[in-house]
Amino acid sequence: MRIYLSRPHMSGQEELRVAEAFASNFIAPLGPQLDAFEASVRSYLGQDLHCVGLSSGSAALHLALRMAGVGTGDEVWISSMTFAGGIFPVNYLGAHPRFFDLSAASWTIDTDILAEELAKAAKENRLPKAIVPTDLYGQSVDLDPLEALAAQYGVRLILDSAESLGAAYLDGRKAGTGGDAAILSFNGNKIITTSGGGMLVTRHKAWADEARFLATQARDPAPHYEHSTVGYNYRLSNICAAIGLGQMEVLDARVARRREIFARYQSALSRPGLTFMPEPDGRHSTRWLTALIIDPEVTGVTREDIRLMLLEHQIESRPLWKPMHIQPLYAGAPYHGSGVDEGLFAHGLCLPSGSDMSDAQQDEVIDRVTARLDQGR
Ligand SMILES: *Cc1c(COP(=O)(O)O)cnc(C)c1O
Repeated sequence: MRIYLSRPHMSGQEELRVAEAFASNFIAPLGPQLDAFEASVRSYLGQDLHCVGLSSGSAALHLALRMAGVGTGDEVWISSMTFAGGIFPVNYLGAHPRFFDLSAASWTIDTDILAEELAKAAKENRLPKAIVPTDLYGQSVDLDPLEALAAQYGVRLILDSAESLGAAYLDGRKAGTGGDAAILSFNGNKIITTSGGGMLVTRHKAWADEARFLATQARDPAPHYEHSTVGYNYRLSNICAAIGLGQMEVLDARVARRREIFARYQSALSRPGLTFMPEPDGRHSTRWLTALIIDPEVTGVTREDIRLMLLEHQIESRPLWKPMHIQPLYAGAPYHGSGVDEGLFAHGLCLPSGSDMSDAQQDEVIDRVTARLDQGR
């Protein structure tokens, strides 16, 4: 592969930060670099929040769901169009997902459908334990109505902000600051990376304290190992956190570059039959991945035509997430919507979007896509 979808992009400061960790011998799951990394994300998000560095975004979601009281037989209501790591923890806890469609105007969870279903569920006394909407491809969900609904029905709201660190909602409110908690991911393909890692961000101090306890094997206070509940080995390594410190320095620059890449694609590929992911007024997406829809009726070309053509030239692109309600694993799970997400999956493509991609590389992608579209059927 010559041009990747989204590669790690170092600032140059990471090795220095890792060297500092080595110098103090904190080659451990805890240490000063982890404390500093948590503080750095907290100060970036700019609110009275608690941040717990964890080994992955999925681990963060697992802990958040447990904090929300999710257990065997409970329902968790969740965006169908998401990544596996944003849903599997529901299964870890023996709970059942109920899937929701996206709004065509934002490609984030349709809050009208959610409101209708909450009203029905409240009447029938079968409200979910938690709602988990996904900030898709770097775009914040519609936080205000979601928080209002969560409050109205007394349901926990956990935001999957794994793809949206650096994004903003209305009035500059940062993605990752809403609900009861949000989860972040620092996996290698995310906007910034610690090679692998995640974070729980919560306004509840008790949740953060409990998450730290559970993430370090649930050791009760005692000189020996004393346990009264099941825990996990989920803390972020201090070495990985050191990488994160170098990455936080360039987060805003990375967002700006990804947005620039999106805008360049959008203007170069503006033609009938191509629709780029919308950005509703007031929302500031990170444009983590440039996502667009290719209408085969209009263009005479399918998403797969484009993807396979790019692959022949060692250029990586990828279909949008396959909605969970049409995954074999979740066959038969309840779903509410009209299939907006199914349409996005059928015709949607993510183009190479890494912040380290050069203009010349992007021009090559644009030229090849344009040539294929001109060729038509
Ligand atoms: C990346 C991602 C996660 C989880 O991330 P990991 O750190 O890989 O566990 C969860 N949800 C979404 C939507 C993601 O894109």
